Amino acid sequence: MKTCLYCQQRHADARQECGRCGMALPASNTHVQARRLRRFQWFCLGLALFCIAMFFWLPRTFY
Ligand SMILES: [Zn+2]
Repeated sequence: MKTCLYCQQRHADARQECGRCGMALPASNTHVQARRLRRFQWFCLGLALFCIAMFFWLPRTFY
């Protein structure tokens, strides 16, 4: 099942767009969702590493 992000109407997976409001339905493919989640995890890891690097790189007494 796909749920329209705009009007919350439920549709079958085969449908490409909402039958009620005409908006494009999101991809319900679990493979795409898993890849998106992994990319988000790598982004968080990179952000954390960037913060740690900035913490040690920036001078402590700049005010
Ligand atoms: Zn809709």
